[in-house]
Amino acid sequence: MNNNKILVTQPVMPSLHEFIPYLEKIWESKWLTNNGQFHQQLESELADYLGVKYVSLFANGTLALLTALQTLKISGEVITTPYSFVATTNALWWNNLKPVFVDIDPDYHNLDPEKIAAAITPNTTAIMPVHVYGNPANVERIQEIADIYGLKVIYDAAHAFGVNYKGTSVLNYGDLSILSFHATKVFNTFEGGAIISHDEKTKKRIDYLKNFGFADEVTVTAPGINSKMNEVQAAFGLLQLKGLNTNIEKRKAIAEQYNEGLKGIKGIKLFNEFPGTKDYNYAYYPIFIDEREYGKSRDELYFHLKENGIFGRRYFYPLISNFPIYKGLESSNIGNLEIANITAKKVICLPIYPDLASFEIDRIIKLLETQ
Ligand SMILES: *Cc1c(COP(=O)(O)O)cnc(C)c1O
Repeated sequence: MNNNKILVTQPVMPSLHEFIPYLEKIWESKWLTNNGQFHQQLESELADYLGVKYVSLFANGTLALLTALQTLKISGEVITTPYSFVATTNALWWNNLKPVFVDIDPDYHNLDPEKIAAAITPNTTAIMPVHVYGNPANVERIQEIADIYGLKVIYDAAHAFGVNYKGTSVLNYGDLSILSFHATKVFNTFEGGAIISHDEKTKKRIDYLKNFGFADEVTVTAPGINSKMNEVQAAFGLLQLKGLNTNIEKRKAIAEQYNEGLKGIKGIKLFNEFPGTKDYNYAYYPIFIDEREYGKSRDELYFHLKENGIFGRRYFYPLISNFPIYKGLESSNIGNLEIANITAKKVICLPIYPDLASFEIDRIIKLLETQ
């Protein structure tokens, strides 16, 4: 047993020393939340960095998802992927919506657009795809289908910070996209999130909804919630943004070292970027184990790594559709989600974070070779 534990991710912390002046400003102003100075500045800097029109900051990504569904008054049934973090479907449940699961494609692990149409009923109002691992979903086909059937598209883009697709931010597709700035994500504000919108009217509605529905002191426009980001989180985000490009470069170098070390191993399939992807963020490093070729199952490998202090994660296993709370849905039927079920049994995400040392990566590669 090696005591040098390596987890799947580790947040990057900017220098504490550099954070103090931000805190001093907050202490001086006594303005702690409600669209403060740092909040406004972070919305504007993120819009520039990401190449999007409007950013509305949130306390976390889940509240952004809940609020995005309220913004567009989604009702009835929503088509989504079972191959994601459980918050994607939970957000539908909390809005009293019926999740309808559609299978993923085997190459890029995102919602298979060719299977969406068969799942549409008169009650379908929206599609909620995920850009899994930051890999763009097939945004063009999804939009075509949404246009034909008159559906809204809300992307759970929690993994896709900074990713571009064919010359524009992937966040510019669909009606709305949500981001998460949780400690484990590429860009973090301890906890945090955002909704990306494309016109001023929608941005306004989002901003009312996240503040109880208030438009001004005496006008409540909708039954809103409290999901605002506070000034300490926003200040931390401004400081994080400064080191972000360097950190993504470091992630890229790690992914390249893994690619080089693992490409010759039989039974290990590596991650592929969806054609047209630009500025991939290396948020995750998933590999897919073919038990027969590799000579060991994914779980055997997972526990072998664990015994050696390497804590990979089986993202995404179990599938959302296999959790007892969602298993009863008709669309959770395993026959309907064949590829997702197969993928969930093959995947392990290996550790990737900017401070992961090169010799540690070599150690992980050795463990994968000599299992
Ligand atoms: C992290 C994550 C969320 C939730 O974001 P929080 O900020 O943790 O609430 C939602 N969807 C996906 C796909 C995620 O990975």
